[in-house]
Amino acid sequence: MRSVSVFGATGSIGESTFDLLMRQGGPDAYRVVALTGGRNVARLAEQARALRAEMAVIADNALLPDLKGALAGSGIAAAAGQNALLEAADCPADWIMSGIVGAAGLAPGFRALSHGGTLALANKESLVTAGPLLMAEARAHGARILPVDSEHSAVFQALVGEEMEAVERITITASGGAFRDWPLDRLASATVAEASTHPNWAMGQRITIDSASMFNKALEVIETHEFFGISSEQIEVLVHPESLVHALVGFRDGGVIGHLGVPDMRHAIGYALNWPERVQLPVARLNLAEIGQLTFAAPDPARYPALRLAREVMSVGGLSGAAFNAAKEAALDAFIDGRIGFTAMAGAVEDVLSRLSATGALGNPAASLDMVLDTDREARRLAGEVIEKMQRT
Ligand code: NDP
Repeated sequence: MRSVSVFGATGSIGESTFDLLMRQGGPDAYRVVALTGGRNVARLAEQARALRAEMAVIADNALLPDLKGALAGSGIAAAAGQNALLEAADCPADWIMSGIVGAAGLAPGFRALSHGGTLALANKESLVTAGPLLMAEARAHGARILPVDSEHSAVFQALVGEEMEAVERITITASGGAFRDWPLDRLASATVAEASTHPNWAMGQRITIDSASMFNKALEVIETHEFFGISSEQIEVLVHPESLVHALVGFRDGGVIGHLGVPDMRHAIGYALNWPERVQLPVARLNLAEIGQLTFAAPDPARYPALRLAREVMSVGGLSGAAFNAAKEAALDAFIDGRIGFTAMAGAVEDVLSRLSATGALGNPAASLDMVLDTDREARRLAGEVIEKMQRT
């Protein structure tokens, strides 16, 4: 029986993974080693009971008594805190979903790789902050990383049977987010509620706001660079409001292979779960005759400054991805808390990057996870200063 663990089970990716596991036989088909959540004890306990998991872990230490209470009589082990997450990652499983949001997902995914198996990687932040380390760890332990981000799953699928040397260009698409058609001068006053709606995808709040600012696409460009080993110049972003073409791979003979599908993460998750097989998945089928037309445009650099920052990060390399992601997470927190406006996020991130690059530290190779985590902490500290200054002026 295949063993699986789901990190971030209570989130949007986690729920889709849970749905697929249940549809594909649930506890009769899988030995579920560990399920983890951040704060949502009730849902984590429900999922753990339904899948007869061996262990449930909640990230917030203070919630351990609640989790124990919710699992009473089930025989499912309950644990809490960051160490417990790492211990769950130390329990080998054949397939592990990395579905925690943010840099918090890095350490558990990294640890899981050291036991081999397959890491289904939704947590793009892992590749952005520590791509070379993660890929090397997978190679060292014979583990496999399968991309779950829809664009990267699409590229992965388009590359089946192809050689990377024949690839000229990878295009990933972006819906343009909630403010694609807003006048530029209105963006500064955009509210959290307005930024938390997505034209096509139903996702967690943080990635939805990152889609409006295109920080999400910025992370994905870096993710493409790290996962497929392709240069920044070979990666293109296109605004595609319909979100039906997820990615295109252009080859040196002029041919282009694209991947299309309705916006439902259960396709990419299901592909990674069943790879290399394709199985029947509960996603709506594409009806192009009904859709009629697909549209594409180059992204407006004034509307989406995050894309320019991603290019700078790739040109510096080293620890700059960790700094970029941490500053972005801190700026996003500040926007969600109402401390800064929507457009101030990019300014804050740029300020942190230029302060850190002045020290010359960013170009250093990310030689260890500790270096990455130190850079993450320092970037968050600086972002705190930058954001406080922004609030005063
Ligand atoms: P959600 O916010 O919906 O879920 C995040 C999950 O992580 C929840 O289980 C949450 O727990 C848990 N969590 C939050 N903070 C911590 C923490 N500090 N430590 C441990 N666990 C934590 O996010 P999404 O599912 O939208 O996104 C997950 C990842 O997948 C992100 O990296 C995102 O970029 C990526 N992704 C998401 C897509 C989507 O469609 N949603 C598409 C492609 C990629 P709880 O809810 O219990 O607090």
